Amino acid sequence: MTNPLLAPWTAEFGLPPFAAIRDADFGPAFEVALSEARAAIAGIADQAAAPTYANTIAALELAEGALDRVSGVFYNLAGADSTEAREALMRELAPKMSAFASEITNNKRLFARIEALWAARDGLGLEPEEMRVLTLYRRMFVRSGAELEGAAAARLTEVKARLAVLGTQFGQNLLADERAWFMQLAEEDLEGLPDFVVDAARAAGRERGQNGPVLTLSRSLIVPFLQFSPRRDLRRVAYEAWVARGANGGETDNRAVAAEILALREERAKLLGYPSFAAFKLEPEMAKTPEAVRDLLMRVWAPAKRKAAADAGALEGMLRADGIAGPLEPWDWRYYSEKRRMAEHDLDEAALKPYLGLEAMLGAMFGCASRLFGLEFREIAGPFYHPDVRGWEVTRAGRHVAVFLGDYFARASKRSGAWCSAMRSQRKLGGEQRPIVVNVCNFAKGEPALLSWDDARTLFHEFGHALHQMLSDVTHGFISGTSVARDFVELPSQLYEHWLEVPAVLEKYARHWQTGAPMPVDMRTRLLTAGTYDQGFATVEFVASALVDLAFHEGAAPADPMAMQDEVLEGLGMPRAIRMRHATPHFAHVFSGDGYSAGYYSYMWSEVMDADAFAAFEEAGDPFHPEVAARLERHILSAGGSEEAEVLYTRFRGRMPGVEALLKGRGLLEVA
Ligand SMILES: [Zn+2]
Repeated sequence: MTNPLLAPWTAEFGLPPFAAIRDADFGPAFEVALSEARAAIAGIADQAAAPTYANTIAALELAEGALDRVSGVFYNLAGADSTEAREALMRELAPKMSAFASEITNNKRLFARIEALWAARDGLGLEPEEMRVLTLYRRMFVRSGAELEGAAAARLTEVKARLAVLGTQFGQNLLADERAWFMQLAEEDLEGLPDFVVDAARAAGRERGQNGPVLTLSRSLIVPFLQFSPRRDLRRVAYEAWVARGANGGETDNRAVAAEILALREERAKLLGYPSFAAFKLEPEMAKTPEAVRDLLMRVWAPAKRKAAADAGALEGMLRADGIAGPLEPWDWRYYSEKRRMAEHDLDEAALKPYLGLEAMLGAMFGCASRLFGLEFREIAGPFYHPDVRGWEVTRAGRHVAVFLGDYFARASKRSGAWCSAMRSQRKLGGEQRPIVVNVCNFAKGEPALLSWDDARTLFHEFGHALHQMLSDVTHGFISGTSVARDFVELPSQLYEHWLEVPAVLEKYARHWQTGAPMPVDMRTRLLTAGTYDQGFATVEFVASALVDLAFHEGAAPADPMAMQDEVLEGLGMPRAIRMRHATPHFAHVFSGDGYSAGYYSYMWSEVMDADAFAAFEEAGDPFHPEVAARLERHILSAGGSEEAEVLYTRFRGRMPGVEALLKGRGLLEVA
């Protein structure tokens, strides 16, 4: 019997034959697809013909056809609907796929062809997109060490292997510290805690084999404890344990691990010819240089610190009113801030939810895309990969644009969080290929399904990523859709969240699921102003972490990272009652892998851009302004990675993003 993953997919829209695929088909399909891809790549590298763009780069683009198809289906299923068999296969595939990726970048004959094209590039008559793709291919090879020979190449391999070990160790140490600590709570210690915290503490107690409730260092338990517990003594013990993760001495202490990681990263960057690890990491990003990152962070820092100082004054007043003499401490901030929030912005979630039914919010999400980009959505019948999954054909003026799948409900087989993946991405090379895009969320399944405000934002966020994939209009798959710089990829998603907050959108779509009545105006106002609450604190704790991350990677690696951390914070004048969101010994973003090293800033970079981009609509006087929407599609949503991000952004906005819209959005402008 033929493997349905490898046979031609003849269903409507070229959808994968979901109903026919068995778990046992994946392993053999990957074997065949990998060996086909290897043969195709060897054919390109070893051919006698002189290198041309077509026989090298374009050929590489099409070399992994079956592998793309099989991976697209498998990795989506492995995250959204996992089984033991799928998990086992994922573990088995991880080293095979990474070995395959390094085989390509280590292939000297292939790199020689790319170098020959690079040297002759100006005489090749390349289209701008082809020049861009050639540049990116060469950069990918160079950055993974293709130019190195002999001892340097061997050392780079060693450094990378050691970094992988240390990154894993950092994460495991942190997990060990988080698992080891808990605090038993007596019944009277539960006073003042909301039911969901009490329930979570009792569940944690049972899980740890204790008789009563316990507090653990899990963010979802300790943060609400710090928010709600009136017991200042317990808050202090809990807080101090929380910030000591990774710095408790002994075998799980991460401080020496961090120092070794930083030294090896510096060595890796120098081997590749970069002055610092930050210079290496930022090269492909929109920010480009450490100076640009620092400049942005510092422009946000000063107003955030002023706002935090004003808030600290108000909170300290509440502390005094409770009869406590000392200054406001880090374990006090969340508690008094929550009290203040309740007084000023309290929203009754239970009363809000009936206005945020999933059907209503899908209507809003599709409705905004129709007004902005002229897209139409028609629900199509499955079967898809799980009975909960729904599908829509996306068209414009009668032409097929994409297939969009929505997989919205939590289930045991789905990993937590929310994401967007392309089961098939857009490209034109080798024949027009339109995308199949999946949004995966973890909403509670109810009858009907009612969302929280956070859920509704997530729905819009992931759909922003989906639009980036669906509206993609480029030739090469290598740069299509969301294949853009890390500090640029969240722009479409965070930007799309803004349309959920347009009062007219809420008025039209946020209607009570039973009565059809619109959301009361007072509720809407509270909802829309709650977003700016306590942003001085949030911004200060974030920016401090981002600046420490930058300092670690910018110059010579510090022998004592903790001393450097203290120095940076002192230089900033860090407020007493706020600490870094992630201190060095538990800064997993930066140390338990390469993902966000010298890159923690990128969350804020994206937020600066989404606020600035939405301001373009506000300046035009209409959140659906047709010309601004057309520019957004032409220069950003359809352009993928066809140009450097700053070029794309400048084409859309006429200039680089400014921080004013972010400061306004976070409510940081009012304290001058
Ligand atoms: Zn996102």
